Amino acid sequence: METKKYVQGIPKPSYQRVLIVGGGFAGLKVARELKGSAYQVVMIDKNNYHQFQPLYYQVATSGLEPSAIAFPFRKVFKRDDKMLFRMLEFKQVDVEAREIETDAGWLAYDYLVLAIGADTHFFGMENIRKHATPMKTISEALFLRNKLISNFEAAYNTDDLQKRESLLNVVVVGGGPTGVELAGAIAEMRRDALPLDYPTMDWKRMRVCLLEASPRLLNGMSEASGQKSLAFLEKLGVDVTLNAAVKDFDGEHVLVADGQKIAAKTLIWAAGVRANPVPGLPEEAFLPNGRVRVNRFNQVEAAPGVYAIGDLAYMETPKFSKGHPQVAQVAIQQAKNLSYNFRSLLKERRWEEFEYKDLGSMATVGQKLAVVDLPYLSFQALSPGWCGFLCI
Ligand SMILES: Cc1cc2nc3c(=O)[nH]c(=O)nc-3n(C[C@H](O)[C@H](O)[C@H](O)COP(=O)(O)OP(=O)(O)OC[C@H]3O[C@@H](n4cnc5c(N)ncnc54)[C@H](O)[C@@H]3O)c2cc1C
Repeated sequence: METKKYVQGIPKPSYQRVLIVGGGFAGLKVARELKGSAYQVVMIDKNNYHQFQPLYYQVATSGLEPSAIAFPFRKVFKRDDKMLFRMLEFKQVDVEAREIETDAGWLAYDYLVLAIGADTHFFGMENIRKHATPMKTISEALFLRNKLISNFEAAYNTDDLQKRESLLNVVVVGGGPTGVELAGAIAEMRRDALPLDYPTMDWKRMRVCLLEASPRLLNGMSEASGQKSLAFLEKLGVDVTLNAAVKDFDGEHVLVADGQKIAAKTLIWAAGVRANPVPGLPEEAFLPNGRVRVNRFNQVEAAPGVYAIGDLAYMETPKFSKGHPQVAQVAIQQAKNLSYNFRSLLKERRWEEFEYKDLGSMATVGQKLAVVDLPYLSFQALSPGWCGFLCI
């Protein structure tokens, strides 16, 4: 029988190990909250830096540099013998053996915290997966920035009007916060920055389209915020089409179910995410959409010692009977509650059930417009800078 290869240099201590997989909002928060506890904390991630996803659209539209929205995990993990970070890719879990497999071998755990989040979901549309630009990592946001800029350069160099328009046009699919923010930021680029860089181009010929399959924008927010964001986008000159499901994209034309055909070389897909896969968990742990079912303590009941938090986890509570939204605040609050419970284990204290406290949400539409939903109030701001804290 083949012997198992183990990850080198991570000795199993005499005390218990919490192994965290994924250093996003959820996983990193658990690590930080357990710093100084009686556990050995080992965190792995396929990258060696944390990514602040809510500001990807700023990187894509040249508003921020990648270094402004990423920082190295090693900053958090240095100078502490009980806090270890390794850049490793998670492959599968062996629930019986209490071990996970990574691209560099196996690692044992006493408690496993799965926090690997979600990835773009194309709903099986292979052509769209091949030609569209997603935005779920900093690399993808940078790829989008480069694609936009090289298309603008190519448009400047051609006198073929049809070709120019298709190079300039941008179609954003998905009217959630990401799609709304991106469409607004691109429309502002067209109004403010691009005419300065390319003074002889007729920027009125560039279309920024936002397509949303449902009858309204910002489905996770209030009706008022949905309507106001539509008004803000229209003011910026974005062509918003509701009830418009995209059927196909061949890299040149976007085909909409209502028959519309838009010539555009750039289609940005912000229309859905799917939980990252966790091979090795029993089948009953998963929902059909891949999210991992957990109880009020974030425990995966079908796999003792395993916990899932953040975008990956699906928890029903009386207030959230269809699960929680996949947003940063849920990830952070679940991480805090789970870390508190891990500390309670050491003190023989009762475990606390998770209860989400909705601190509000915000979507910015350009630099000076935002829609904000607070638990008891919804409003629209003309200068959203001051309420940026709501972003996460
Ligand atoms: C463009 C965009 C804009 C958003 N805007 C907002 C917003 O304004 N407000 C808001 O509240 N939420 C927003 N969200 C959602 C928010 O970012 C997520 O809810 C949050 O990041 C979830 O945290 P998480 O820790 O569960 O997962 P993530 O933050 O996705 O972290 C998962 C981590 O796991 C790692 N990983 C994945 N697979 C593996 C593997 N196989 N092996 C090792 N490591 C792995 C990843 O590298 C990553 O570091 C936005 C998301 C996107 C994509």
